[in-house]
Formats: sequence, structure tokens, C-alpha cells
Amino acid sequence: MTLVMKFGGTSVGSAEAMRQTAEIIEKFKAEWGSTVVVASAMGSKPVKVTDLLLNGSKAALTGDMEEVNALLPKLRAIHFEAIDELIPAGEKRMALKEEINRFLSHFSNMCQAISFLREISPRASDAIGGMGEQMSIRILAAYMSERGTPAEPIDATELIVTDDNFTNATPLIDETNQQTNDRLLPLLEKGITPIVTGFIGATPDGITTTLGRGGSDYSGSIIGRAIQAKEVWIWTDVDGVMSTDPRIVPDAKTIPELTYLEVSELAFYGAQVLHPRAMRPVMQDGIPLRIKNTFNPESPGTVIVKKRDLKKGHIRAVTGIRQLSMISVEGRGMLGVHGVAARAFKSVAETEASILLISQSSSEQSICFVVPQSTSAAVVSKLDSEFSSEIKVRNIECIKADENVAILTIVGSGMRGIPGVSGRFLTALGDAEINVIAIAQGSSECSISVVVSEESVAKGIQSIHKMIMAQ
Ligand code: ASP
Ligand code: MG
Repeated sequence: MTLVMKFGGTSVGSAEAMRQTAEIIEKFKAEWGSTVVVASAMGSKPVKVTDLLLNGSKAALTGDMEEVNALLPKLRAIHFEAIDELIPAGEKRMALKEEINRFLSHFSNMCQAISFLREISPRASDAIGGMGEQMSIRILAAYMSERGTPAEPIDATELIVTDDNFTNATPLIDETNQQTNDRLLPLLEKGITPIVTGFIGATPDGITTTLGRGGSDYSGSIIGRAIQAKEVWIWTDVDGVMSTDPRIVPDAKTIPELTYLEVSELAFYGAQVLHPRAMRPVMQDGIPLRIKNTFNPESPGTVIVKKRDLKKGHIRAVTGIRQLSMISVEGRGMLGVHGVAARAFKSVAETEASILLISQSSSEQSICFVVPQSTSAAVVSKLDSEFSSEIKVRNIECIKADENVAILTIVGSGMRGIPGVSGRFLTALGDAEINVIAIAQGSSECSISVVVSEESVAKGIQSIHKMIMAQ
């Protein structure tokens, strides 16, 4: 039985964290027989190696090589400090440091090239961004071997085959399954634990890509599916998925069990536990995904499964996303005219803004949708030009952006087919004197979202959380 375990940045963020991680790997390797480890770049809060690398490339783009040169010793220190503590002085330590130095000089050369050209391509950005994982797995694998647990560092460029959508690539399933099995199974048979880079993959012709920021979770589940692991565990620095953000509600609770669908909704609506795409690969085969805390391994965490026993009408969690704008396209002339919505959304797509929520009144006199605030000016100007002729004849009266709004979402598969959940939800918001600007519910009936003002979202979350705890 194989267990895939992915360790996040804080779980490999220092020598101490790596020690803890190594103990966890050994414990579960003994229990499960074989394990595959996927790891992020080192990232002890607030310094994340991936951020440093990408910041370096951005500085280079402005010609600021001084900044790059200042980053180099920082990056070296983060990795060398861990090596010095974990690997005894000698040849192995020297060789490992040389390897890190090779990556760092590669980073510096690439930044040099970017600064000459004043241009950075998405593929250069991926080559740079992925180096954090390439360095961390080498340290972790060397340390595992040092402890007597045979381990081999593997760049996922050898396993995960992707399209060429650099910085946000999508895996090609068949090729990935084939390569992953070919490469990993012989190691597992020999009792060697593969320590694989998260975050990265490669195009069919071998150019490094990345799966999007935070994509190591996704790597874990892609590899889990490829080798048909029994379970995929995501080790992080919190106890699991919580009923809400504990910074807003200190007594938020860890949720023991959730469905894939519930977690997808939560991730989409702002709960930062898992990469939103991480569920997809394991969902198809029903492989359970478990979230556990490296720094509190005894806690059972949250297990994410295909189906669970539902308590009818129960809401599992409440989340909020801030810094959004609500865009409205309004006008009596839209009544019965087809194609307005299609043109509006096509225009938004051209700005590359992502739409988080849509609502249209059945009178068809307004369409409104929510986008990140940072994209709102571009969206409005695109819509103004798309509908300029309708605006001239006043078929469309106004296109406006309501800034400073937030989305508050409740999630729970148990609300499917149960009347009264939205009633309770809206009553609780009303009792807290929170004005609801727009409402949307997906037909999956797994979440209901409302748009509220930015200032009221925290209060809204607190009052809805009280309701969840009392149900
Ligand atoms: N290191 C990558 C990032 O910071 C991927 C990950 O940690 O999940 O985005
Ligand atoms: Mg993460």
C-alpha cells in the first residue's frame, strides 16, 4: 500500500522542521510499507524561497541587479543553515552545498540575462520559480539517507508532463501516469523513498513548467493518482480545514470530514488550505485526501472523501473573500435582447479577470458579477467600449463598479434539497444588521454566497459561525 505525503513550505522551512518531517516520513513508511514524498520550497514564515526567487527575477526585469545580489546570500543562508544542522561535516555536506551553489549561480545568470534584455518570459519565470523545490528536496533526501532511510531526490520534470501554459500548466494525464509509474515503481520496489519536487512539471519536450502558485498540493494529488496511492496526505502547519478563518473567529474548529465538492467550494471562496485544483486528480478515483499538521501530528486533521454521512441541512463552514468589486450592467433596453450576457462575459474574459460570482435578475434589467478589485478598472473600460453603441441610445444606462465589496459563502453538501437553509442564513445576516447586496447559489446546492460590503464581512462571518456552532 502506498501513501503519498506532500509537505508544505513550513514543513521543510528549517532544519528543525525537516527533522520533524523526517520522523513523520519514517513513521508512516513503517506503517504503510511504501511512501512517496512531495515537498515544497523552504518557506519558514514570512520568508518563502519561491517568493525570493520570483522577486529576484522581477528586480532583474527593472535592471536592479543589486537586489538580486542581495538576495543571493539570503537564499544561500537559508539552505546552508539547514544543511549545517542536518548533515555532518564532510564530503556529503560539501557536495550538497555545491549543488545548492550551482542552482544559485544558475538563478543569478538567468537574472543577469533578464536584466540585459529587460524582458522575462513565462518560461524563464518557471525555470526560476521552480528552483526552490529543486533545492529543498535535495536537502531533505540527503538528510533522510543520513538517518538511514534510503531516499532519492527526483525533479518532477521527470514525472509530470504538462501543456506549455507556463506559470499555470495543466498536466497531460496519460503521459504523466506512464512516466510517474516508470520512474517511481522501481524505487518503491527497492524500498527507496522518492522525494519529489512539488510545483513543477515539464512540457513533452522537457521544458520546466509550474502548476501555479501554491501548486505543490496539486503535484501531490497528481502523483497520488498516477501511482494509484491508497491515500494522499497534505502536511501543513494547521490542523486541517477549519469551520472559518481563526483570525476572525478564534474558536473556529477543525472539520473532521468533508467531501471533495465542499472543499473545492471552500478553496474557491477563499479558505487557504488547499490549492483549488488539488482535488481534481484524486476525485475521479475516490482517493481520500487528508490534511495534517506537521507540528501537531497527533491531531487527526481533516479527511476529504467522495461521500460522507450528511446531517440534513447542516452548514459546514463559512468563508469570505475581500477586496472585490461588483460590476453591474444595467438598462431597460436589455429586456429580451439576447447576447448581452455573452458579450459582457466575453469582454471580461478578454481582460483575463476571473469572475467569482454572477447574478442576474429575471427582469433582465441588470446583470451583475464580482471580480477582484485590482481588475475592476480594466473590466469597466472594456465593457464601456463593448457596449458603446447601446450606451449611446440608452439601451444600457449604466455600467458601474461597486468597489469594496466582499463575498461571504456558506458551504455544506447537507443543504442539498433541504428547504430553509438560505432562510436561516439570511435571517442571521439580517439580525446582525448586515445588508446583502446580491445573492448566488450554484445548482450543486453545496454553497450559497452573498455579496456584502467589505466592512461588514468580518461581523457577518462571526454571526454565521455562531449559527454553525449552534446547529
Ligand atoms: N513553492 C510554490 C509556491 O510558493 C508551490 C507551493 O509551495 O505549493 O507557490
Ligand atoms: Mg500550499
